[in-house]
Amino acid sequence: MIEEQKKGTLLVLSGPSGVGKNTLIDMFLNRNKDIRYSISATTRKPRNHEKDNIDYYFLSQEQFCNMIEEEAFLEWAEFCGNYYGTPIKPIEEALADGYDVIMDIEIQGAKQVSEKWPEAVLIFLVPPSLEELARRIKNRKTETSEEIEARLKQALIEMDVGRMYDYYLVHDNTEKTVLELEAIRQAESFKVKRINWDLVISSLKEGLNA
Ligand code: 5GP
Repeated sequence: MIEEQKKGTLLVLSGPSGVGKNTLIDMFLNRNKDIRYSISATTRKPRNHEKDNIDYYFLSQEQFCNMIEEEAFLEWAEFCGNYYGTPIKPIEEALADGYDVIMDIEIQGAKQVSEKWPEAVLIFLVPPSLEELARRIKNRKTETSEEIEARLKQALIEMDVGRMYDYYLVHDNTEKTVLELEAIRQAESFKVKRINWDLVISSLKEGLNA
């Protein structure tokens, strides 16, 4: 009865490039089929394994600017020379249908989301060490050495902003970190502010009269 009144939760995951947000989210979504993933739009070129409309909506700069003008984004930001944005409609629909939604966005976007949607839950993913982070970005072999340099520089800026988040998770072991993410999701779902308390009381009263 109370369960039916719960609104979906918006989980916002950030963390420096290479920290393993995709790996974590993939396992989280695999284990939790009732969660929706927010597919972002970007002007970045696809990496080898990436598919349009699944990993990202890969757009031209012009298409991206049109979406900004149409106010189709919940948030958008420039990151290391490319644009990234979250289409608002799928998120509104999923949350209204009671689904939890997880999104993977950088810090400027997360700030915009928390301003527009204060009930969003901001989670920051921390690498086990900066050496490990550098190793992961290099091993990916998808960026040039200048791009790797820029991403590592940006990583330190992002780490500092982590202090404004609600939760942090250390990504040292994906199985363990997924369990921790699930714990956050579960705790958040029991927050009183996520339900209409008056409806809870009236449905309890109805049970008394039945
Ligand atoms: P990558 O190019 O490695 O896929 O992503 C670069 C950064 O952009 C990552 O930190 C990722 O979290 C962020 N990002 C991905 N999608 C979005 C989005 O829709 N909005 C914002 N603000 N950042 C995003």
